[in-house]
Formats: sequence, C-alpha cells, structure tokens
Amino acid sequence: MRSFAYVRPPDVAAAVRAIAAEPEARFLGGGTNLVDLMREGIEAPATVVDVTGLPLTEVEELPGGGVRIGAAVRNAELAAHPLIRTRYPVLSQALLSGASAQLRNMATVGGNLLQRTRCPYFYDGAAACNRREPGSGCDAVGGLNRDHAVLGVSDACIATHPSDMCVALAALDAEVEVESVRGARRVPLTGFHRLPGDTPHVETDLAPDELVTAVELPPPAATTSRYRKVRDRASYAFALVSVAAALEVRDGTVAAVRLALGGVAPKPWRAHEAEHVLTGAPATEESYRRAAEAELAAAVGRPGNTFKIGLARRTIVATLRELEP
Ligand code: SF4
Repeated sequence: MRSFAYVRPPDVAAAVRAIAAEPEARFLGGGTNLVDLMREGIEAPATVVDVTGLPLTEVEELPGGGVRIGAAVRNAELAAHPLIRTRYPVLSQALLSGASAQLRNMATVGGNLLQRTRCPYFYDGAAACNRREPGSGCDAVGGLNRDHAVLGVSDACIATHPSDMCVALAALDAEVEVESVRGARRVPLTGFHRLPGDTPHVETDLAPDELVTAVELPPPAATTSRYRKVRDRASYAFALVSVAAALEVRDGTVAAVRLALGGVAPKPWRAHEAEHVLTGAPATEESYRRAAEAELAAAVGRPGNTFKIGLARRTIVATLRELEP
C-alpha cells in the first residue's frame, strides 16, 4: 500500500476544508470500503480524511413527521432506533440483512451510501474493467456474471450496487444532504447513484470535494413496509435479488405503493413502472404479477444471470402479498 497522509478533522467545516485543499484526498467513513481498495492497489490517495469521528451521530424527528439521520450514525444503531423500527420497518430490516453484526456495528450511513461494487473483476488488477480503468473493457460481460445486473446496464458495465440500506432508502423517497466549502445541497437518493452508460467510473452525483452529512426521510407514504432479500446463504451475503416495498391498501385497492429493487441494477432501482401499474389497481396477486412483469420488461440477462429476471418477478409478488392487510 502506498504511503499517505492521515487527517482526522474535529468537525464538518474542517473536513471539507481538508479535502478541498488536496485534490487526491479521499473521505474514509465507517462503511466505505476504501481500505480494501487501498490494500488491492486500486485506490492510492495522497491523503485520507477520516470522518468517522465527526459529530453527525443524531437520529432526529422532524416537525412534519420525517426523520433526519446523521451520516455517522452506525448501521446497527439505526436499525434498532425506535423511530426507524416503528415508522420505517423496511429500513430497519434492510440494515439487519446486510453484512455481519460486527460490520453493522462499525458501518455508517454515509459510508454505506458510498461503498463500491463487489464485482470481482473490479478488484482484480489483471482483469479488464471500465469502472476501474476507463476504456479497458469489461471482463464480466463474457465472463462469470451470475451476480451481475439485468436492469440499467450498458455494454460498458453490468455491475450491481451492493447496498441493502440504499434499496430501502430509494423506496422511502430519501434525500441525501451533502456539504463542501461551496455550501450544502440536497440530492434525492434515487439520483445520487448513477447508471454506468459510457462512464461507469463516475458512480455518484457527488463532486470530489463533497461530504455526505445526513439523510432525510419524509413521513412514510404507507403504514406497512418490508424488505425481502434473496441470497445464497442466510447471513453475510450480498443480494441476488432484494425488494423494498411499502403498501397502503384501502377498500381492496392499492392507495399508495413504493417499490425498489436491489441486486439487479448498478444502483438502487426504484420500480416506477411497477408502481404505475399498481396505483389504483385491485390489491390482488394478479395486479402484483402484472406490475412485476412491467418492471422487468426491459431486463437484459446474460448466460450467468438470466435467472434473476424471474426471481425478481417472484420476489416482488411475494413481498407485496406479505404486506396485504
Ligand atoms: Fe468492471 Fe463493471 Fe465490468 Fe465489473 S461489470 S468488470 S465493475 S466494468
């Protein structure tokens, strides 16, 4: 690992000043996998700005019924918070389905948002990878792609986004607050991560000098919500497919629905097509099937991962059935 300068600022102002002064600096949050990437020689920052000690550790109720979550709140603490467990169970369940208990005790909200893909070719310096080295190609397209994406992909990259938490945040209409020396701004979670297109190395809407400071949740759109994750083993595994869903049924009709998918796209995938089909439709298995078909209609499978298309359809239907009153 190349030597680097290490900075541990006491507050947000000092953190954003430190990274503005050094173009090759990188923020290190509790859930960011920057250390893995430095060990593999994929990242070699001149300066590491450790933001794990910043005073961004509050979970606060907002006047309108929403919740503001500091970027340094630990995943385990957030999952157990009474406001999250009662109002946003989908988020609590998503957090508890991710990683291991030890990792959840260390991982932060901001770090979780910024973790990188787990595509094995991305971590293999001998492989072609447009995300790691623009223009070099993508060995996953014709290689081992069982874990890769079927929605939102391009010929340049078919990697999946690894987070469970972000799938729930996408379904909950979360907004990300970011700060730099130029001031603060807010980005909808669904616009925070980018699809690969021709530039898979540009992964988020975040400018190089911007720090994630908080995530805000509006009041929940539905009274019940759930996260369902399908994976190869029951713990410490990334999703093959996951579904975050919130459903409100009145008089047998879908009055409100929020749906997002994980494990199938290069970003947390908000299922707008399915929501469109479901809103105002009878709350029946037939409606859920039509919605799932509509969402997956644009999916592109490869030899290793075509199974995910049917699996995603079935998981959407099963999750919505569980939420029926
Ligand atoms: Fe790289 Fe993306 Fe291809 Fe994986 S899928 S090898 S991350 S370009």
